[in-house]
Amino acid sequence: MSDMTDGLNNPDYPIPEELRSNVAVTTLDRLYNWSRARSVWPMMFGLACCAIEMIATAASRYDQARFGMEVVRPSPRQSDLMIVSGTVTKKMVPQIVRLYNQMPEPRYVIAMGACASGGGPFKEGYNVVDGIDKFVPVDVYIPGCPPTPQALLHGFITLHNKIEQQSLSTVPWYRRGQSEPIPIPVLGPDLIDPRQAGIMRMQAQQESPTEAPAD
Ligand code: SF4
Repeated sequence: MSDMTDGLNNPDYPIPEELRSNVAVTTLDRLYNWSRARSVWPMMFGLACCAIEMIATAASRYDQARFGMEVVRPSPRQSDLMIVSGTVTKKMVPQIVRLYNQMPEPRYVIAMGACASGGGPFKEGYNVVDGIDKFVPVDVYIPGCPPTPQALLHGFITLHNKIEQQSLSTVPWYRRGQSEPIPIPVLGPDLIDPRQAGIMRMQAQQESPTEAPAD
């Protein structure tokens, strides 16, 4: 606990001006974030070659248990971290968004590797999307093709740092209307994001405007 109170004057964690007089809230934030950051439950979920490195990270040699992250769950409802590790095909996107929606808040997403971050070597391929961040919010990007287990561990530490900067007074999951499910993309001849429906309708009208009725 002494770490919690000493931390109030820690220059590495500057306290916002508006919270300086509220010692109780600041201390609770640190305790809350410290415990959350060291108990992240990743979802058992992999897409392609990057997943092999993710599996290696969870095994004994790299031992992600050192970071309190060894409880890998087979269900999104028991997980708070989705590691998108591999090529994101259009066919897979609706399932990824559905899984994300099923995860309870607070939840986090790591885009592991070039494919998940931006399409990677398959960017602009007919069957892949150029980054999962077009569909779900990403907290940490890890470059590489594939990233090494050490790079994934660095991504975990980056996520811990992000969690430790959050504040109970501003976190979105205690606010009404902030955790609405993301509309599931529809897979037809191409992938359609329902959030883009208005833009697509406008583009279609511009490309083939209806002829004015004859007088
Ligand atoms: S980034 Fe490279 S290693 Fe990872 S899924 Fe894509 S092609 Fe495979």
